[in-house]
Amino acid sequence: MYFSLEWYVRTMSIFDLNAFGILPDDQVSLKPIGSAVYLAASFFNHSCVPSALVSFSGNRIRVVLNRDVAKGEQIFISYLNPDSFSTKKELNEFIKRKYGFDCNCSQCQTSQ
Ligand SMILES: [Zn+2]
Repeated sequence: MYFSLEWYVRTMSIFDLNAFGILPDDQVSLKPIGSAVYLAASFFNHSCVPSALVSFSGNRIRVVLNRDVAKGEQIFISYLNPDSFSTKKELNEFIKRKYGFDCNCSQCQTSQ
């Protein structure tokens, strides 16, 4: 079977945008031990003030609400660790460069 360069680049881009870095169970290290695409979890959008947190047990992903949400309210996760960025501007530039969108979450709207 032959895959074109365009197919490969497109497929790897989709994987990269939707993949989760699997973090170790110890919750201490923030260095991923692998990456994977989780179909259902890949549907969550990003917010800097997420309503759910992502964690891992081995290679199983767990998405748990971290606050009450109203019926029908969209559930957001954070695509990154905000502590990795020294400024909001740096975080927003990373999101734009890596994911191709401007974060429009409630926190980013109030900081503009
Ligand atoms: Zn934001």
